[in-house]
Amino acid sequence: MFYGSCLICSSHFDSDSIFCEKCSRFALELVRKCCRCGGFSVVDGVNGCNLCAGRKIEFDSIFSPYIYSGSVSHVISIMKYGKNRHYASIIGDHFADLLKNKKLSPKTVVFPPMGFIDKLKRTFNQSEIIAEKVALKYHLELERNIIKKTRHTKPQASLTYDKRLKNLEGAFQIRKNVKEKNFLLVDDVCTTFSTINTIAELLKKNGARRVDVVTFARTSPYFG
Ligand SMILES: [Zn+2]
Ligand SMILES: [Zn+2]
Repeated sequence: MFYGSCLICSSHFDSDSIFCEKCSRFALELVRKCCRCGGFSVVDGVNGCNLCAGRKIEFDSIFSPYIYSGSVSHVISIMKYGKNRHYASIIGDHFADLLKNKKLSPKTVVFPPMGFIDKLKRTFNQSEIIAEKVALKYHLELERNIIKKTRHTKPQASLTYDKRLKNLEGAFQIRKNVKEKNFLLVDDVCTTFSTINTIAELLKKNGARRVDVVTFARTSPYFG
């Protein structure tokens, strides 16, 4: 897909990116990844990085093209806190393009649901819009109602790791038969992977065969 103007500075350009050449320099690709949790890692090892060592990983794979910093965190902030639905669509299209070398089918696309109040406040679920774009591009089935949020939770970003897990306990429910199904879980940003791990665990407990995760960006302790 051709976009034509930079989401940060609005200058026009001729490429498949959402950033112009100058702003691309501040959109860091996630290259050094932990083999277990997909997070930014400076060490290669089978036991994982300091974020995931000792934690059970419930998903089968994870891919995030960008580090959540610079230009990428900037456009995500505009999308989320500026309630910019148009940005969610553009980010979704661009993200879908970046998945072209991944084996995505046959899978059912799902996304972390938002609670009723959060969705009312933000007016849309950005992960849902991004998931729609991915499903559309690869002709995959999108399921909006398999995973339900059953209660309000505090924003994960405001909590420490231990509290994040506690915050999510019993917060989601599976509402349909997922036995033997393969899922592609799509999210905008992955931080400590507590949310996606909790959802993957729930899908697996209910009989799902595979849960592969793709997130547009990934936070890193090395990049603010
Ligand atoms: Zn620019
Ligand atoms: Zn790791």
